[in-house]
Amino acid sequence: MKIKIINATIIDAENATFTPNMTVCIEEDTISYIADDNNLFCLSFVADRIVDFDGDILCAGFINAHAHNAMTLFRGLKDDVPLQEWLYDNMFIIEKHLQPQDIYYGTQLGLLESIKSGITTNLDAYFEPTKIVEANLDMHTRLVCALGAGDYKNRYEGLIEECNKVPHNNGLISYFAYAHSIYTVDTKGLEDTVYFAKDYNLPMHIHLSETLTEVGECVQKYNRTPVQYLEDIGFFEHNCLVAHGVHIDKDDYDIMLQHNVSVAHCPASNMKLGSGIAPIFSMSNAGINVCLGTDGVASNNSIDMFREMYLGSLLQKVNLYQTDIMSADTMLRMATINGANALKLGDKIGRIKVGYKADLVRISIHDINMQPVNNFISNLAYSAKPENVKMTMVDGVILYENGKFADFIDVDKIIFEANNSLKRLKTVSKR
Ligand SMILES: [Zn+2]
Repeated sequence: MKIKIINATIIDAENATFTPNMTVCIEEDTISYIADDNNLFCLSFVADRIVDFDGDILCAGFINAHAHNAMTLFRGLKDDVPLQEWLYDNMFIIEKHLQPQDIYYGTQLGLLESIKSGITTNLDAYFEPTKIVEANLDMHTRLVCALGAGDYKNRYEGLIEECNKVPHNNGLISYFAYAHSIYTVDTKGLEDTVYFAKDYNLPMHIHLSETLTEVGECVQKYNRTPVQYLEDIGFFEHNCLVAHGVHIDKDDYDIMLQHNVSVAHCPASNMKLGSGIAPIFSMSNAGINVCLGTDGVASNNSIDMFREMYLGSLLQKVNLYQTDIMSADTMLRMATINGANALKLGDKIGRIKVGYKADLVRISIHDINMQPVNNFISNLAYSAKPENVKMTMVDGVILYENGKFADFIDVDKIIFEANNSLKRLKTVSKR
């Protein structure tokens, strides 16, 4: 299909610029031409569909670099407790009873919310990766599937083969090797994850240095910080993306820089679980690639990249008593380009560029909370909300437009099945 977007204000996060009155030509899954509305090629480009943006913002789709979308089932199930209590006494109890179909519909419920907030790619780390892959393929969303979740018995063999049984030839799916954390996976399990990554040539993902408890236990047990401990195991030799990195000190930065380790900052989750404030200003200054994640809805309790950009910025300013840091354009880069780089997809998503995948979002500039426009990027990072998203496109396919999902997405069924799953889970986990 050929789509022509006209009269758009293109946001270039890389250079922190915006350009109004632009046309973007899309052929199948790829951006094929970008020029101003009066360009002769653009004017003569014959499209199956022309979308007039009426001056609205055209932004690269947001990249959620740390998600557990099926945990949307547990929204509000246990609030207002610290991470260890939340995880061990609540989440792990109910998660023991999860069935494949719960993961499928829970993931899709999370994807509905993602799409509405302009997220086009998720790194999703959870149980039943085959179901996560299926759920994403059926919604036509881009997925980096973290393999190994919940698998603490070193049964990695065949995981990729299992996922590959799900038919996909559209390039929407890629994989990371994953271990949940250093406190739920023992040294042998972490070493096996490294072997797995090496065998299949995969980047790696893990929750790291999320709480002081985790760091304190690691130092006591191994006389190493979590970063040093993982380096010893070889975990950083395969392009690692760590989630959180709340309690990382400057001595660890050298190790992370040496191994090109990226950090997925999850400000809402860190604040809600009382985990602390990740030093992302200092990490970014040191040259570490920092991107954004929502974490699971069970600890957030939303999937809203606008909120993560806003909180991520304000949290650093208030913590360091400094206003000229983590600007709107920095936050936008974190939500797009830095996320793409962290997921090893920087050569095909995260930017609006000819040859890049058409993962695009339209954000209204006409809504009340987006008026007036003194600065497009400021409005985007500090004022916008999911309800301002007017269109979300992944791989050249419009998934959401003017409040409606595409015909192949059955919203009512997803909500109905997700509620059925939750009902059953709550009953069996109380037995
Ligand atoms: Zn997480």
